[in-house]
Amino acid sequence: MATPRAIFWFRRDLRLADNPALLAAAQRGDGDVTALFIVDDTFARPAGTTRVEFLRRTLDSLDVSLGGRLNVLVGDPVEVLTRVARDVGARLVVATDDFGPRGRQRDRRVQEVLANRGISVEFVDSPYAVKPGTILSKSGTPYQVFSAFRRSWELEATTAPLTSPSAVSWRATESVTLDELSSRAASSRPAYFGDLPDAKAAVTIEAGEPAAQRQLTRFASSVDDYQGSRDFPGVEGTSHLSAYLRFGSLHPRQVLWELSGDAEGRRTFRAEIGWREFYADVMLHRPDSAYRVMQKSLEHLRVDDDARAVERFAVWAKGETGFPLVDAGMRQLLSEGWMHNRVRMVCASFLVKHLHLDWRWGARWFMWRLVDADLASNQHGWQWTAGTGTDAAPFERIFNPTLQAQRFDPRGEYVRRYVPELATVPVPDCLLPGGGAGLLSASYASPMLDALAERREALARFAQARDLARIRS
Ligand SMILES: Cc1cc2nc3c(=O)[nH]c(=O)nc-3n(C[C@H](O)[C@H](O)[C@H](O)COP(=O)(O)OP(=O)(O)OC[C@H]3O[C@@H](n4cnc5c(N)ncnc54)[C@H](O)[C@@H]3O)c2cc1C
Repeated sequence: MATPRAIFWFRRDLRLADNPALLAAAQRGDGDVTALFIVDDTFARPAGTTRVEFLRRTLDSLDVSLGGRLNVLVGDPVEVLTRVARDVGARLVVATDDFGPRGRQRDRRVQEVLANRGISVEFVDSPYAVKPGTILSKSGTPYQVFSAFRRSWELEATTAPLTSPSAVSWRATESVTLDELSSRAASSRPAYFGDLPDAKAAVTIEAGEPAAQRQLTRFASSVDDYQGSRDFPGVEGTSHLSAYLRFGSLHPRQVLWELSGDAEGRRTFRAEIGWREFYADVMLHRPDSAYRVMQKSLEHLRVDDDARAVERFAVWAKGETGFPLVDAGMRQLLSEGWMHNRVRMVCASFLVKHLHLDWRWGARWFMWRLVDADLASNQHGWQWTAGTGTDAAPFERIFNPTLQAQRFDPRGEYVRRYVPELATVPVPDCLLPGGGAGLLSASYASPMLDALAERREALARFAQARDLARIRS
């Protein structure tokens, strides 16, 4: 009888602890496991240099944890897995299941072709506390509204994490160097990106599973303040766990377990993890929601897409709008590959409701620059802000970028940190359009638009879209 050997295909689960799929591979392969990461260009395409660099560092850390036995290969997973299975004599590939629209297509194809070649492919667990698709209403349909989803989800979400596999012999096979990854970033740019540069940001988040564990422990000591501080971008009020969850350096199970409890901050924090799971669930049931407007009434919202729109998009992307909170957020994104949630909402709202651009343009830019870019959370975060998603903010709710700055960055800590032209401008001027236009803010951009006039324009376009939808229905 052939020795049982298994291949473990790492994807969005770049960790050893609490990895049920990895435990299954270790058990089924009788402790003889070939650990693989496959660089597949189809998936690298929307990623900019910053996310690819974060991935490189995460893989580097994983390789250290595996004693230098992580095999990184480039190519079509069908071909790579077939070749490696033949080379190491394995008949079984195990991976954590993927719930994204493209990932699912890929996995069905891999499973089918490899089965024909005598290799079975098994998908175990998921990157979520509760597997997308399993939370259903009493009538057996998926939830459209977060609060109802959350009630059912919370009953199942918190389960004890598992330990790392022990006594595994990791098998080394062919591997490229991790530097190979860098050349793969951002191979497709939409025309509206123009000549915006894809400079690598100085990511402030340390990559890898041990760093993720440390960050979780650090955050556990302040989670009870989360409710009061999470909306203020100038203070360290949120967990900064998103990039770890994105790449699976941590599993949400571990996070929910560590931060369980009934205090208000903990409950609010759990709800945020719940949003991530809700969006994955919506995306599973409605894969078209990655790019399609979910609210019929907004399908015909008029957006600008001419040469002037492209120019205005670039001003937004570079953080030169003259609205301090928007510019601080967009520059944090450029310089760190991350942005605070409150500011993501304000920047997204500005693009849709003040610049009248298609939310998909902004979503693509975020996918390009964010280290934590996740298709479900990002596209639905955008659809929520644009008023086009399931259980979204109503379109008429238009963030006033100046009031948002005054309310959530009252001491100007955040805007002055990320907009150096405002570093010496005191409150309240540093929060005003153009930095109050005093002498100290002379080098800062003048506001690119009249926020009140553009708000009226957005509402007029909204009324038009609604009328058109009524006529067509
Ligand atoms: C326009 C827009 C785009 C976004 N794009 C992404 C994205 O690509 N990837 C991403 O992970 N999050 C995205 N978010 C959600 C949210 O902004 C980030 O998850 C959060 O800022 C990450 O910081 P944190 O880990 O400190 O969050 P915390 O406040 O500490 O929250 C803990 C975790 O909960 C999850 N979470 C929190 N808020 C949300 C939310 N609104 N939707 C879904 N999950 C949430 C994240 O996994 C986060 O790490 C987006 C939000 C908006 C409005």
